Order: sequence, then C-alpha cells, then structure tokens
Amino acid sequence: MARIYLDNNATTPVRPEVAEAMVGLLRGCYGNPSTLYCIGQEAHVEMEHARDVLAGLIGADREEIIFTSGGTEGDNISIFGVAKANRKKGNHIITTKIEHHAVLNPCKALEKEGWEVTYLPVDREGLVDPDSVGRAITDKTVLISVMHANNEVGTIQPIEEIGKIANAKKITFHSDTVQSFCKLPINVDKLGVNLLTASGHKLYGPKGVGLLYIRKGTKIMPMMYGGHQERSLRPGTENVPGIVGFGRAAELLHSEMGTEEPRLRKMRDRLWDGIKKAVPFIRLHGHPENRLANTLNVGFDFVEGESIILSLDEYGICAASGSACTSDTLEPSHVLSAMGVPPEHAHGAIRFSLGRENTESDIDKLLEVLPKAVENLRSFSPIYKEYLRSQGSAAG
Ligand code: PLP
Repeated sequence: MARIYLDNNATTPVRPEVAEAMVGLLRGCYGNPSTLYCIGQEAHVEMEHARDVLAGLIGADREEIIFTSGGTEGDNISIFGVAKANRKKGNHIITTKIEHHAVLNPCKALEKEGWEVTYLPVDREGLVDPDSVGRAITDKTVLISVMHANNEVGTIQPIEEIGKIANAKKITFHSDTVQSFCKLPINVDKLGVNLLTASGHKLYGPKGVGLLYIRKGTKIMPMMYGGHQERSLRPGTENVPGIVGFGRAAELLHSEMGTEEPRLRKMRDRLWDGIKKAVPFIRLHGHPENRLANTLNVGFDFVEGESIILSLDEYGICAASGSACTSDTLEPSHVLSAMGVPPEHAHGAIRFSLGRENTESDIDKLLEVLPKAVENLRSFSPIYKEYLRSQGSAAG
C-alpha cells in the first residue's frame, strides 16, 4: 500500500540530494571543524558554506547565525539567554497563547523564578492584534516573542508590524520561524527581529539541527558553557553533516518557493472544497487566507480526531490530530482553545499538512476515504444519533 504522508508540519522526509550530501560528509569528512589540519579545515569550509547560504536566505550576516540542535534549542536560548542578560533591566516578557511549547514552557519556567509573562490572546482565526503587543509593554519588558506561522492551524502573524512596535521601544524581539522558514519570504531587517529560530527537519533536511539568528548587538547570555564554538552561545563540536544537510535543504526549498507554495495552496484548497462538499458538520480552524499554503486544520463534530487518524492510517494516510508534541495528551489543543474553539469541537480536529512529495492523486485518495471514515465513526456516536433525533423531532 502506497503511503500518503500529510503530516509535514510534524516533520518532513529528507530529500535525496540532502541525504547524498550528508552521506558524503559522514563517509569522507570527519574532521573536527575547530582543528587546524587539513581534514578539520575541510569540515570547517563545508560548515561555513552552509552558514553563508543560510544567512543569505534571510538577509543576515554570517556572524549572526549560530547552529543549534533545532527549534526547541533555538527558542530556549532566545528566551533564557535574553532574560538572563537583561535581568537588571526588567523581569517582564510578552508572548502569545498559541506559541509552540518550546516557547511557552521556558516562559513558564521563568515565571517560577519571579518573571512576569503576558500571554497575549488571539482572535477566532488565530491572529494576534499588534496593538495588544503595544498595550502590554511596560518599563520592565525585556523580550517579545511571537511566532511567524502557527504549526497547528498555519495562521501567519503580522510580524513586521509587531517588529516596528518592539523596535520603537528598543525591546528585544524574537520570532519562532520554524514553520515558515523557506516557505514564506523572510528578511530579518524587514521583520525587525533581533532573534529568529529555524529547524532543519521541517524543510526536508535532517532532524537535530537548526539555527538561531542573533542580530549584532543583541544582549544575550549562554545557557550552556563549554568550548568557544558558535560564539560560545552553543558550545560543543558542531554537527557538520547535519548543518550541511540543513543548508542544502534550505537552499533548495527557498529556490522552489515561487512554484511550490502555489502548488500546495491549490491542492490544499481543493481538499477543503472536497471535504466541505462531502462531509457535514465541519469547520475550518485558522485564518481563511493568511495561512501557510500547506496547512488545513478541520474540525469534525461528533467524532474524536484520534479515531479519524487511526481510520486513515488503515489506508496508509498519515495526518495529525493535534501538534505532534501534544497528541499524546487528552487535553484539547492550547492553540484551538486560545482561538475560542470549545473542547467538544477541538477534540475532533485534524491537521492535514501537505508537502513537496504530495500530488493531486493523494488528495483524490483522501477525499475518497475520509468522508466514509467520518460517517462510519459518527454512526457509533450516541451524541450524533441524539442530535439527528432532535433535529428530526424539531422538523416534525
Ligand atoms: N517551534 C515550532 C513552531 C514547531 O512547529 C516546532 C516543532 O514542531 C518547534 C518549535 C520545535 O522544533 P524542533 O523539533 O526542531 O525542536
């Protein structure tokens, strides 16, 4: 059975060109990039080439890029590092209710140490109001962290506007761009960010590698101490094959943005139209337009998201019932809750996130299988039956 992978916001398959580049390095280029002899310098050159490429993609200088182990580490360094470096100046952070846990949990940890954190609300479509950022700023605010695109519903935040507000007040501004890097145009000056996080495995690169952009002059302290690698902010011998794979993957995806994004959008919208036609009692979660081109989060009433996932899995179709990191809990998604989606609706949410390997025939197959799966599951639901009965008696 051919697998249809529709969970590209959780992770992406490594593209062949990237795997090839990495295998070449694993086999033949094992030197430590901090050493002076030839094989060490070969590794250093490869790594610095990736740094140049990645910096170029976002309009940064090469010295402003440090390599990390991925999105979680970049977010943690940003939040703890800026908090630590600015403790004398203030103890207030502004973020949003819909951030990834890689941002929310460091903020919660800081609250236990006496920091105050404002978690800004979002509207029903998942958008943060930039004016609410301005209103939340106090003379103790040292950091604002707002994600670019949400991993669960895909809503894209007005980062440029928020950046202007942060810059006018000279407050350090961080954005988690893990889901948007190489999928939306990003220029660090245009966005007005001091810090920006990205991750390799969301863009057809390897897992366990990412980058943190740190604008020159940003006050930040390390979280780990060791050697002088990565400006001492991320000590430890660098993951050279991972970094090279990340650089290659980002370069390729960035060059395809103009064709890939409209292709994904077209398929995604056809999927939504098909679901709307074939399945009653559904709703779209996320902004109707201002949304990642690959992301479709749909709420199915009267059915549990997990049951749909398992039914689809029988046909080799992979999708998500929440963000991958939270799907092992029974709590409704914090993102949907913040958007005002009631728990009984949030429990029936499914995220389809398309990627470069998907084709129109994947959408055809899903549209063939999904309506039957939902109808079958609903046929076992007492609440659904009760609802139909009440509608029948109301009509009668
Ligand atoms: N931030 C966002 C928005 C994400 O979607 C993810 C991963 O799902 C992360 C951070 C964490 O990235 P990583 O898995 O590279 O640690």
